Amino acid sequence: MPPGKEPMKYWLQCEHCHVRYKSIKILYHCDECNGLLEVRHDLKALAKCVSTQLFDERWRATHSPHRSGVWRYHELILPVKLSQIVTRPEGNTNLYAAGRDEKSGLRKIGEYVGVSKFYLKHEGENPTGSFKDRGMTVGITQAVVLGAKAVACASTGNTSASLASYAAQAGLPCFVFLPEGKISTSKLAQAVAHGAITVQLKTDFDGAMKIVQYVCDELDIYLLNSINPFRLEGQKSIALELLQQLNWKVPDWIVLPAGNLGNTSAIGKALLEARQLGLIKRLPRIASIQAQGANPFYRSFQTSFEKRFKVQAETIASAIRIGDPVSFARARQVILETNGVVESVTDKEILEAKAVIDNSGIGCEPASAATVAGTRKLMKKRIIKPSETVAGILTGHLLKDPEVAMMVYTRTTKAIKSTGVNPAKLGRTLKKFLHL
Ligand SMILES: *Cc1c(COP(=O)(O)O)cnc(C)c1O
Ligand SMILES: [Zn+2]
Repeated sequence: MPPGKEPMKYWLQCEHCHVRYKSIKILYHCDECNGLLEVRHDLKALAKCVSTQLFDERWRATHSPHRSGVWRYHELILPVKLSQIVTRPEGNTNLYAAGRDEKSGLRKIGEYVGVSKFYLKHEGENPTGSFKDRGMTVGITQAVVLGAKAVACASTGNTSASLASYAAQAGLPCFVFLPEGKISTSKLAQAVAHGAITVQLKTDFDGAMKIVQYVCDELDIYLLNSINPFRLEGQKSIALELLQQLNWKVPDWIVLPAGNLGNTSAIGKALLEARQLGLIKRLPRIASIQAQGANPFYRSFQTSFEKRFKVQAETIASAIRIGDPVSFARARQVILETNGVVESVTDKEILEAKAVIDNSGIGCEPASAATVAGTRKLMKKRIIKPSETVAGILTGHLLKDPEVAMMVYTRTTKAIKSTGVNPAKLGRTLKKFLHL
């Protein structure tokens, strides 16, 4: 570093050829090799100013930005002026004890997967109902810092709902590119209600992704898909908050659904950095779970990552209906460095797991249920051991996909269809449900 210059607190770096870029310019790919860029922090300098005690003190904050479950860790996320931050605030999602030995009704989930020490972090409890808010608060903050004139994304639904909300809060015009007829009404309704300009395309997510990149380049619009490295920085906070909720005791496993692989990458990056900073001593193993009809990462894992696959994606879990994941390379690195695994589950297994989660009282959207279905499968294969502590991520809220919820429950539902208003008769009917 030339004398007299401020130390660079963070920079963008190509994850392939490791060339560094100044973080102020709008850039997603390396000029040299077209690799994706990632945010890098000066971890040596950071190690001197962050600690678990610091974060524990901020945990009690009642005001933004430290009230946010993302910005509580702002030194590790994006060192901006605190006044520039656009936050709802997000995060602070519950970590539910759902092990086999728990006293509550959530025990059913632990019994189903066969794990005694089982936790579920419910990211569906974020402001727009999915973990995407953790990345979007950082992405939109960076858009404001960069002076972007508009923002855009391609989405299977949740990214567009989140982007629309944060763009509206920042007062930025927002375009969302969606695969026509393939996103749930709830997610579309969120984007529309928050004032986004929705562009429905006769293609799938992978096709919409290509178009949005072209449009953003042409029209100089800030792209907020997960190729945007700042979003991943925000999503790192899922892992940091999870560790903090476990009192910085590292679980043996973190299990999560995997589509575009942004979250696998972000959570892995958080853990590796946390270890380097001395916040934790060892790494959990990461298990990324894909749907069988959209499992290119799983297939690649089966070849020890020697081959890369693209598939025509089809699954009921629309949030992970992705055939050519953008963050493939960085997620592979995470699986290798955490001694992780990739598993694949069928739609039937996803829906069965979803019914267990929903019935326990917490509920989730279909993609999230892959976490529980995958944990069960890895237990059966004895890859996860019964004595191990497992933390699963539920990525989205039950109400994100009411169509699927109703489809599952119209078969098993215990509804009493329209009756007369004879109280005694109704009482007798209800009594049967109590097995009296
Ligand atoms: C985006 C999303 C995923 C997939 O995460 P990736 O980072 O694309 O792997 C899973 N579940 C839900 C609910 C999502 O919104
Ligand atoms: Zn490069």
